[in-house]
Amino acid sequence: MSNKPANKIQDLQYFGEFGGVNPSISDSATYTFLHAKTMLDTFEGHAEGCYLYSRHTSPSNLYLSEALAAMEFTETANVAASGMGAITSVIMQICSAGDHIISSRTIYGGSYAFLKNFVPKFNISTSFVDITSLEAIKKAITPKTKMIYCEALSNPLLEVANISELSKIAKKHNILLVVDNTFTPLIISPKKLGADITIHSLTKFINGTNDTVGGVVCGSQEFIDNLRNVNDGAAMLLGPVMDSVRAASILKNLRTLHIRMKKHSENALFLAENFEKDGLKVVYPGLKSHPDYNLFKEMYNEEYGFGGILTINVGSLNKTNELMELMQNENLGYLAVSLGFYKTLFSAPGTSTSSEIPLEEQQKMGLSDGIIRFSIGLDNDIERTYRAMRKCMTKVGINLG
Ligand SMILES: *Cc1c(COP(=O)(O)O)cnc(C)c1O
Repeated sequence: MSNKPANKIQDLQYFGEFGGVNPSISDSATYTFLHAKTMLDTFEGHAEGCYLYSRHTSPSNLYLSEALAAMEFTETANVAASGMGAITSVIMQICSAGDHIISSRTIYGGSYAFLKNFVPKFNISTSFVDITSLEAIKKAITPKTKMIYCEALSNPLLEVANISELSKIAKKHNILLVVDNTFTPLIISPKKLGADITIHSLTKFINGTNDTVGGVVCGSQEFIDNLRNVNDGAAMLLGPVMDSVRAASILKNLRTLHIRMKKHSENALFLAENFEKDGLKVVYPGLKSHPDYNLFKEMYNEEYGFGGILTINVGSLNKTNELMELMQNENLGYLAVSLGFYKTLFSAPGTSTSSEIPLEEQQKMGLSDGIIRFSIGLDNDIERTYRAMRKCMTKVGINLG
C-alpha cells in the first residue's frame, strides 16, 4: 500500500456503466428494489451495494467519498453540499446538550460563528483557545469536553496545529480530535498524525475551479455510518447532501490535485521569499521566519510543499484596499474571498472572511487591518507576476527595500 496520498488517488480504478473511463453519474433521487425485504435491510444500514434515496447516499457521491477517504487514509468518508454542511453535521453528531468543545480561536469565520452564535442554542459551549499553546488546551478541558476542533493550517493567520500532540491530549481524555484540512490537502495527512476526523471544504483547492461549493467528512466506518443513520444521523437528517453531477465533476478535478498543489506551493514560496527580502511582513509556513516552520516540516508530506496561502501586512486598511484594487486592475488576480483557485485571489480577512469575529477578538489574535491574504494561483511565469505585484506596491506607496 502506498504512503503517498496522490498515489492513492492515482490507484483508484473506476469504470463507467458502459466501460467509460469515468464512473457513470447516478441521475436518480430514489432507487428501486427487486425484493421488499432488501428495502428494509437497506433502511437498517446492512444491505451492501444497495441504494435507498440520494439524501442517504448515491453511487456518484460514494465514488467521490471513497476517493477522498483514500487520500486522507481514513476508512471511509461522506461528502456534503458545502464545507459548512460537513462541519456543522460533525459538530451536531458528536455533541449533545451540556457538552463542551475546545476550538482554536483562529478558524474560518463561518465555523467560528457556528460555534460562537449557533450551538449555544442547543446548550453546547465552546472555549476558544490559542491552538499553538498545548498548556491552554489542557487547561480548558472539562469532564464535558467532547471535541477539540482546529484547522491544520489556520485561517487566516496560518498558525500550525501540532496534530500529534493534540491527538495525545485528546486520546488521554477520551475526546475526539477534529481537523479541518482545507488549506493543506495532500500536504498534511491529519489521520496519520492521530486525528479522528478530517474535514475539507472541497470548494477550495480540491475542486480548484471555483464553480461549486462542497465538503467532506473523512473518518471511521462507524462514525460515518452514524452520520448517515436514518434515525439519528446529522448528515441524513439535516440534509446537506451533494448533488451527483457535482460529485462527478469534483472527482475529475481531484485527479489533478497533486500537480496543482505543487504549483500553488512553488509559486507561493517564490513570492513569500521575495516579498520578505523586499522588507515586507510576510507570513508563510515555508519561511524560516514562521514560528512553526519546523513543526510544519515535521508534519508535512514534503513533495507538495508549504501550500498556496500567504499573508502580507501593508500597514493600513487604506493601503490594503488600494493595493488590492490596483492588482485586480492589472489582472494579477481577483479581489475575492475563497482560495485554491487557478487565478490568484486576495482579500482583507479582517473585513471579509473573518468579519464574524468581533474586532476586539481580532486584535487579541493578531488580525490587523493591514493584512492581505493571498491564495496564489497557478501562474506559469511567477517571476513576471512578482515584478508586476512589486510595481503595484511601489505605486500605492508601500516601502520596499
Ligand atoms: C471555505 C472554508 C470553509 C467553509 O466551506 P464552504 O464550502 O464555503 O462551506 C471551512 N473551513 C475553511 C478552512 C474554509 O476555508
